[in-house]
Amino acid sequence: MAWVNLEHQQKAIELLASRGVSLTDIAEVTFFIQKEYFPGLTVEHCEENVKKVLEKTEVQNALFTGIAIDELAEQGKLPEPLSTIVNEDQGLYGVDEILALGIVNIYGSIGLTNFGYVDKAKIGIIKKIDEIGKTSERCMTFTDDIVGAIAAAAASRIAHNNTKRS
Ligand code: MG
Repeated sequence: MAWVNLEHQQKAIELLASRGVSLTDIAEVTFFIQKEYFPGLTVEHCEENVKKVLEKTEVQNALFTGIAIDELAEQGKLPEPLSTIVNEDQGLYGVDEILALGIVNIYGSIGLTNFGYVDKAKIGIIKKIDEIGKTSERCMTFTDDIVGAIAAAAASRIAHNNTKRS
């Protein structure tokens, strides 16, 4: 059972907004992943699950860490060679995905599958963030994986709650 922190949930929502990501944006990705498995699923229901995922301390901690790194990268405050690696979102870096696994892991292996799919398919807001990171001064290296992981975790939460009560 993960710990819940509602104060940090609010902070997490604000930080996501500062990166241009709303709860509805994330819920739409969750909806896209799960819609064919759960007829009658709505974006609103997905958004409730996204909020639930954001209550959890492990999720909040990963989010605070990843977004802080992106912000420091944008401000030129990371030491080299990390600054260049993160700002260029170099393909062999991979720590951004590893950090995001801390988010998907809270719902077990089904979260991992969903995360892999979101990462590859670049659905909705993920694609938008990716483009912002590539075409502007903003660094979205960690933000895209965090957002994808939250969407994947919410999808897994929906799947779990529909198959068994725990
Ligand atoms: Mg990334």
